[in-house]
Amino acid sequence: MPKATESQKLKDKLFSKRPHAGQVLTDAQWDEAASYCEGYKTFLQAGKTEREVVEYALKMAAEQGFTEYQADKKYKPGSKIYVNNRGKALIFAVIGKEKPDAGLRLAAAHIDSPRLDLKQNPLYEENELALLKTHYYGGIKKYQWATIPLALHGVIIRADGGKIDVRIGEEADEPQFCVTDLLPHLAAEQSKRTLSQGIKGEELNVLVGSRPFREDGGSELVKLRILQLLSEKYGIVEEDFLGAELELVPAFPVRDIGFDRSLIGGYGQDDRVCAYPALTALFSLTTTQKTCVVILADKEEIGSDGNTGLQAAYFTHFVQALCEAAEVPARDCIVRTECLSADVNAAFDPTWPGVMEKNNSAYLNKGVVVTKYTGSRGKSGTSDASAEFTAKVLEIFRAAGLLRQTGELGKVDEGGGGTVAKYLANLGMDVIDVGVPVLSMHSPFEVSAKADIWMAHKAFGAFFLA
Ligand code: MN
Ligand code: MN
Repeated sequence: MPKATESQKLKDKLFSKRPHAGQVLTDAQWDEAASYCEGYKTFLQAGKTEREVVEYALKMAAEQGFTEYQADKKYKPGSKIYVNNRGKALIFAVIGKEKPDAGLRLAAAHIDSPRLDLKQNPLYEENELALLKTHYYGGIKKYQWATIPLALHGVIIRADGGKIDVRIGEEADEPQFCVTDLLPHLAAEQSKRTLSQGIKGEELNVLVGSRPFREDGGSELVKLRILQLLSEKYGIVEEDFLGAELELVPAFPVRDIGFDRSLIGGYGQDDRVCAYPALTALFSLTTTQKTCVVILADKEEIGSDGNTGLQAAYFTHFVQALCEAAEVPARDCIVRTECLSADVNAAFDPTWPGVMEKNNSAYLNKGVVVTKYTGSRGKSGTSDASAEFTAKVLEIFRAAGLLRQTGELGKVDEGGGGTVAKYLANLGMDVIDVGVPVLSMHSPFEVSAKADIWMAHKAFGAFFLA
């Protein structure tokens, strides 16, 4: 090794470092990351809607001895409990040795993802084809959702109250669905549209059939046959669509990406790529000082409104119940709570460098991203974590020997975004965003790096125990 120059020695001492997993992880650690991510891939494949994630997470939790929280029950340190909010959002907690007025250690992720929701009167026939009208959910680039295989997930509540779970298009022997697009030969006019108008909202119509009910001179015979099939399979009539929650999601299976298999491609990684590590970190805890909590929230992609979004009171109600049982004030618990808003950030994409500021963007394989502020146009709409809390969280990760980096969502004034961080911060607790960098965010096929996901698992674990 050549002797280090004076300037090199001083640089080593003074410059901040943002190492790449390639410089730090041993082969055994790369393998460990990959093996950890097999569980994540199964989770991602199983949970393509918030309801499915809830179901799968409850199965995982049951194996870990979690039981449903009962407000009138006293819980000892080490108790593992959960609250199920309408099958669409969850709170998990491991009760700590200290009373809740010492504050909680909280990680909050969301389990809803952008998709195409069916309208309430979805089914129609046009030129002997049956189609479904959709209303997209969350921020999507609409053109990305045409000409890809789609699966139908969700629930139908029949008039008699019976609930039907729907999941069609994931298994090899099941049919799939799709949104059609114009052939390039005839797209001269369409091609003049701006990209955001390339496929318009009312053009996201999903093809679901073409064979008519036997020809007897009637009208809407293709639609009739579809309803006949649905009636046979589910016992429903058209009216039952009115109260259904049916969603088209990409039908691509979750796959390793790259010759080296270092990446994962799949739908809905925002934000299940943070939900899973937060859960596995919580599940690895036995006894802790502080009560440790994971929230899996719904509705983040449409602004966290509604009774399963994090602007709703269900988390506060849970804290109040915990504190009443312990006979301590809930406000003390809230203001002393420290929270990681577990959400993704945009990874630097070498094909699209122009929107990123390279010194302050997150990179794949550089570990968990600590995002002090989100928002847009001069930090509007962000909770902007304090210096004290930011430094504390960074130091927890450094002391645990983790790969961590900071991130900002693109260049100043390029765009922006937000997370659940501000809603929790508005309650009075300290909050900062921590998560996994993702490529092609909000697309039907998002990409993340295994090393980062594994780091996120360790980061949430270190935070819970710090
Ligand atoms: Mn997100
Ligand atoms: Mn998102």
